[in-house]
Amino acid sequence: MDRRPFLKFSFLSFLSIQTPISRSETKYQFDFAKSKQGYLNRIQSIQNTGTIPIIDIESSYNPTFFDPESFVRAMDRNGIAQSCLSLDPQRGGSVWSDASNQLSVKFPDYFIPTGNGANDPAWTNNSNQFLDENERNISAQKIPLMGEFEFRHYSSPRQVQRGRDRDVNIAIDGSLGHRLFSFAHQTGIPFQIHYEIEDGLLAPLEKMLNQYPNAKVIWCHFAQIRYSSRSSIYSPEYLDALLDKYPNLYLDTAFGDSQSIYPLSGEPHARYWANQSAWNKLIISKPYRFLAALDLGGDRIDKLDLWTQKLRGFLNGLPEQTKEIVAYKSAWKLLFNEEIT
Ligand SMILES: [Zn+2]
Repeated sequence: MDRRPFLKFSFLSFLSIQTPISRSETKYQFDFAKSKQGYLNRIQSIQNTGTIPIIDIESSYNPTFFDPESFVRAMDRNGIAQSCLSLDPQRGGSVWSDASNQLSVKFPDYFIPTGNGANDPAWTNNSNQFLDENERNISAQKIPLMGEFEFRHYSSPRQVQRGRDRDVNIAIDGSLGHRLFSFAHQTGIPFQIHYEIEDGLLAPLEKMLNQYPNAKVIWCHFAQIRYSSRSSIYSPEYLDALLDKYPNLYLDTAFGDSQSIYPLSGEPHARYWANQSAWNKLIISKPYRFLAALDLGGDRIDKLDLWTQKLRGFLNGLPEQTKEIVAYKSAWKLLFNEEIT
């Protein structure tokens, strides 16, 4: 294959993270009417091979070390119809980049444009500037989904291995949370949160869901509890009641496999596996509130094959109809306000 288009693309991506985008430079605009048929054709072609297509609602990448050509080939191999792949702004680069949208230009059937990942340091060190850019770009470019905002985030297992200590703690009901929820409430554009499941954090989240009923919130990493001693309330019954109370709350299903241990607590943090039948009962009763997600990231972007295998392991435990909804139909409905039958 001729590598030149990729080299050119990578170079442009690299440039765009180094230089802040001026207001007049924003030319990209997502047009769902134009993209729709390409998305549907890809979903259909995966179905024709006997595989259930997946829309990955939540993954991110480091633009400096990313090969889009090999990524889309991996999507083909694994029946990933579309990826909502957000760019993680890098240390030393600009707070915002629209390089990820160029993926949708180059591979229009594969990518659903998604805002940048709100993580450390772009979001934690320059929070209001990040929100300025988020609001401006999401609105001007008609992006249908915002990235993952870290409010409460312990170090990931891989960061623990690397000795990096990330402990993000931004009050969800503080001024930044209000600004984000308010923007989502006004625009109807969904956003993702990383928010550890702990007793003391539930009331502030409920307060925000209550105050901003039109804010569509995707709470990432369903049933992932890192320290059981800090979480006595969250259960299938609690989540069931929460979903009844707040119709705009969604869960992404990116969580570890049954063997996955959180190294700082020594506990299996993907709590789904210990109570699979009760969680499945909840998912079956509200399938459109659960979204398939791979949670690929800059340090595991080459793991699409293995991560998809794990995601399909979870999906295969669900009845056929529910599986199809969680795999791609719920994301389609949430993002585009229409149902795939
Ligand atoms: Zn996360």
